[in-house]
Formats: sequence, C-alpha cells, structure tokens
Amino acid sequence: MTAPVWLPAPDPAEVAAALTAQFAEAHGEPPDGVWSAPGRVNLIGEHTDYNDGLCLPFALPHRTYAAVRVRDDDRFTLASRQAGMGWSGGLDSVGPGHPEGWSAYVAGVLWSLQRKGIHVPGLDIVVDGRVPLGSGLSSSAALECSVAVAVSEVAPDGSSLARRDLMAASIEAENVVAGANTGGMDQAVSLLAREGHALLLDCSDFSTRDVAWRIGALGWTLLVVDTRAPHALVDGQYAERRASTAAAARRLGVGALRAVGVDELDAALARLDDDVLRRRARHVVTEIERVRVAADALERADVDALGAAMTASHASLRDDYEVTVPELDTVVEVALAAGAVGARMTGGGFGGSAIALVRDTAYEQVAEAVHAAFVDRGFAAPQFLLATPSAPAGRTA
Ligand code: ADP
Ligand code: MG
Repeated sequence: MTAPVWLPAPDPAEVAAALTAQFAEAHGEPPDGVWSAPGRVNLIGEHTDYNDGLCLPFALPHRTYAAVRVRDDDRFTLASRQAGMGWSGGLDSVGPGHPEGWSAYVAGVLWSLQRKGIHVPGLDIVVDGRVPLGSGLSSSAALECSVAVAVSEVAPDGSSLARRDLMAASIEAENVVAGANTGGMDQAVSLLAREGHALLLDCSDFSTRDVAWRIGALGWTLLVVDTRAPHALVDGQYAERRASTAAAARRLGVGALRAVGVDELDAALARLDDDVLRRRARHVVTEIERVRVAADALERADVDALGAAMTASHASLRDDYEVTVPELDTVVEVALAAGAVGARMTGGGFGGSAIALVRDTAYEQVAEAVHAAFVDRGFAAPQFLLATPSAPAGRTA
C-alpha cells in the first residue's frame, strides 16, 4: 500500500531566493523584488459570492511568488516555473481573450490597472506557483494578486492603489481577459485576509470581518485533500449554476438570492415552479445562513457547531446544488468516519479539493483512511495539505 502524499508549504525566503537566482539567470540582472499572494480554502459559503452572499475563506500558507523588474521600455515578458514562457508584448495587445492561456491572468491585471489610470511601466515577470494549479485552492487568484501587489509597489503612482483596487483589477483580469467566471471571493481573501484569522466576507459590498482561528491553539487543524479528480465541464456547469440562481432571483423579484431570508425560504420556494431552480435557490439561501452559524461558532470556538455546519454544507452542495463528484463525497464520508468533526468540498466543485476539521493529533490517521479509500475505489492518488490561516499578498523579498 502506498503512503499519502503531502504537499508542505515551502519556506517563503527559500522560494524567493531560488526565484531571484532564476530571474537573474534569465534576465542578466536580479529582480527589483519578489512579491507573493496566497491561495485559499473556503471554510464554508460555497457558490454564495455571485449571489451577493456570505463566505468564510482563509489564506493558505501556500503562495504564488512573482519576481518583478521594471524595464526601460513599455514592454512585458512573462515566464512561469510551472508553465514556461508566456506572453510578451505591450498592453495595447491585451484585451478580452488576449493573450490566451495562463498569461491572461497576469496580462489582465496589468491591463486593468492601466485602465484605472495607473502608469504601469514595462516589466519582466517570473512566477513560481506553490499553490497546486487547478485544485480549487485558487492558484489563479494567487497569480493575479501576486502581480497586482507588485505593480502597486513598482509603478510610480502605485501608492494611490488601495487593496480594494488591486482586488477589482484581479477580478476583472479573470472575468474579462481570461474569460473565466469568478465571483470575487478568491481575490478578496488573497488581498484582505489577516494571518491567524478567517475572513467573513460579505460579497454584496465586499465588507469583511476577521474571525480569529482560536481553535488552532485548542488543538484543531484543517486537513485539505486535493482529490486530483479530473475537472470536466467545469466552466459550462459553473455558468449554468450562476444563470439558474439569477433566474430564481428574477422570478422572486429580488436583485439577488441574498435578499431571501431563511425564514422566508418556504414561501419563496412555493413561488418557484421549477424543481431544479427550487433546489438551487434552497442551497444558496441555507448556505448563507450556515455561514452565519459557522462564523459565530468559530468565534466561540464551538468546534462541534462549526463541524456540523460544514457537513451540512456538503450535503446541500451534493443534493441540491449538484456540484460534487464521487471523489469529494468519498473524502467527506471517510474523514467523518475516521474522526473528523466536520468535512465538506471547498471551491467550485466538479473535482478540486475537500476539507476536514480534525484534531491535530489525528490528521495523519484521517489522511491514511482517505488515501486507502481512494486506492480501494480506483481513484487517482490524492494529495494532502495542512492549512493554517496565513498572511495576505505582500512583498516577500
Ligand atoms: P484554481 O484557481 O483553483 O487553481 P483555476 O482553473 O481557476 O484553478 O486556475 C488555474 C489556472 O491558473 C492554470 O490552469 C493556469 O492557467 C493559471 N495559473 C495559476 N498558477 C500558475 C502558475 N504558477 N503558472 C502559470 N499559470 C498559472
Ligand atoms: Mg481559480
């Protein structure tokens, strides 16, 4: 029997030093600095961001690092340790759908900041992403935000940019230039998180409240399982869920499902004549309420109440929102049986990652049980991470 594979977060200073050396080799001179931004896990509140709802993510210790140097001209070059050479050119060649591929996430940030009136100088950029790519842990936002925070420090007028401007540019890059639908949770937490805290985020106005991760000192940890399940049909399914919740809101005469309180849910559901819309709406309305319950439980260090809300969230995503896959359901089932106090998928679903709240003396045992079940059921080997609420985007070296 093979052993579980762990993905520890590397030491930021070591990554920055290696990236600086790589940059110097490629460009003949060291970078002006290295900036980085975290991926995230969402404790609870899934598919609520685009319904003006609440969610409760925190920043991972796993980050994307960007070494950046200002050039003498207004051109840009991009390279990634994971993806090789990317786009090079001027910002006049950037727009919806251009450039293609991973470069869109970076070029889109530069383009959006320039459209906000910032003088973005020509840059050489080399990135190293230590958030697993495409695992539902938001490597895309980590990439965008690492570059956005770098520009805010190297552009001559960058100090005029608030974190919220960087967030808006990163969201615009992903939605408009990369053409991937995103509701904004990922970029908000990567830029606004506070170390040692989860971020209670209200997506109607992006207001936030820090909720201390007191349970860490009480012996609890969050185990993250990257299922490595193949992501099929993700974009189309995401767009379909988004459209169906918007349709439910329209039929109920509200701007977004956030406006429907959980006490009004039965009456609202009775006014929807379509069973699919009813189940999609029920997920969103009950999920927003579960975020309130979970944030309150976390604040009080009530681990049982937090875990129960997480597990209920998973059931709603599986049965009403229909965005889980057998790998995600397996993590939840097996982790709970092995002693987790709560477990759920995290991120958009259709593959990606799941989380389990476990005693810090028991996480290895839970990981072994999940790993064994994956082998048994013929799934690809998962990858395990431990998540502690970490620092937001900023300068690393
Ligand atoms: P997630 O954000 O959950 O990791 P996404 O599909 O939203 O999944 O984003 C993954 C994409 O982001 C990758 O396919 C790639 O295009 C881009 N990306 C993220 N990190 C890097 C990196 N270090 N180098 C190159 N591309 C990256
Ligand atoms: Mg993403």
